Amino acid sequence: MKKPIALLLALAMTVSLAACGSTPEESGTSSDSNATSQESGSENQESDASTPDSDSGDADNQDGFTTAVEGKLTMATNAAFPPYEYMEGSNIVGIDAEIAAAIAGKLGLELQIDDMEFDSITEAIKSGKADVGLAGMTVTPDRQEEVNFTVSYATGVQVVIVTEDSAITSVDDLFAEGASHVIGVQRNTTGDIYTTDDIEKKGLGSIDRYSKGADAVQALKTGKVDCVVIDNEPAKSFVAEVEGLKILETEYITEDYAAAMSKDNTALYEAVNTALEELLADGTIQSIIDKYIAAE
Ligand code: GLN
Repeated sequence: MKKPIALLLALAMTVSLAACGSTPEESGTSSDSNATSQESGSENQESDASTPDSDSGDADNQDGFTTAVEGKLTMATNAAFPPYEYMEGSNIVGIDAEIAAAIAGKLGLELQIDDMEFDSITEAIKSGKADVGLAGMTVTPDRQEEVNFTVSYATGVQVVIVTEDSAITSVDDLFAEGASHVIGVQRNTTGDIYTTDDIEKKGLGSIDRYSKGADAVQALKTGKVDCVVIDNEPAKSFVAEVEGLKILETEYITEDYAAAMSKDNTALYEAVNTALEELLADGTIQSIIDKYIAAE
């Protein structure tokens, strides 16, 4: 499984290097209104008999689920992770926003999106303030102790961004004997978790943690860090926007993205997970992803 993905990634990156300048902006525009607004859920799906404002969506509806806010599916995210979630004007758009809108539509709920720090999402889910965390979130064993993950809807790859003239030419350079790089990451993401374990704890370098991936990339640009370890798709959009940076062709690790939900709300979990499975099976998820990510 690892080798083909590495190859595919290398290919994808070669192609996307040529294309990535225009990809996020272009597809973002076409994602239009239905991703963020309160009424988005019911708009773009086949009409459902129950309307969001009627008595659906609360404890006694026929699906038996409750939501944080009656009649709404509340999504927690960090809108600084293009093309999965990012700001377009005052709207949050992107792959996850559209997936959530499609799920909400199937459940007869309105979508509401709450923007927060990435490391606040799990707490928002656990406390029941939000129904679903959709944030390009990687399934990890530690997180599985805190939340229920739905079926995976996408694959992510941790990659390494360096300056074009960097002495770091392969991921393996980060683990080499005597290595002492300063690695930039987004706080509490898997890039942070893995590099902390693989590099910092082994005395092979130190980690600088930023609240946004884009800030870590700026730190690379200004020479404060030697590289940034981050998910491949945001990496592509950041590199497209900042001169003089590139993504190493070797991958750090491949991971699965899924939606995070409360362990206590099993009826809602079942409803959302089933909706997501249907959207995967009928090709809706793939077409949303294809809108934002250039096919290889
Ligand atoms: N996939 C990474 C993680 O789950 C990063 C997600 C993000 O920054 N939104 O940790």
